[in-house]
Amino acid sequence: MKFLMPIKCPKCKADCREDDSQTYVCPSCGHEEPTDYGKVRTFLEAEGNSSAMIISRATGVSIGKINSFLRNGRLEIPEESDVFIGCRRCGINIRYGQYCPECANTLKKELQGEFDLSTVGAVPKKSSGRMQFMTKEKMMDKA
Ligand SMILES: [Zn+2]
Ligand SMILES: [Zn+2]
Repeated sequence: MKFLMPIKCPKCKADCREDDSQTYVCPSCGHEEPTDYGKVRTFLEAEGNSSAMIISRATGVSIGKINSFLRNGRLEIPEESDVFIGCRRCGINIRYGQYCPECANTLKKELQGEFDLSTVGAVPKKSSGRMQFMTKEKMMDKA
């Protein structure tokens, strides 16, 4: 699955395609440019876990985009975080994805197997049972 739009090479303006999801490689001059996802990964590898706000400030990648990486399971919120994203159906905390495993099961039955399993996220262990609705605004003030 490809998530990113092609970009123009900053050096020679050729169309670059995503190479390994973290880097764009220019087919014409070989220039490598990190993707937004690549910038976030590099930052997390260097700095350890950080809130979306800090990552956004440091990398210039928008909070909305960081949230979309969480929603599509490309990034995960660590277990020890205080801030999580919510299941789109019941609002329970999840570390990534769109639905908690329980809602995923229900939806799978309702949709008769047409449910996309890549949207299922893990519920953080420490907050199991605690309901928390996380909005983007809330995520921003906590940061
Ligand atoms: Zn180029
Ligand atoms: Zn749920």
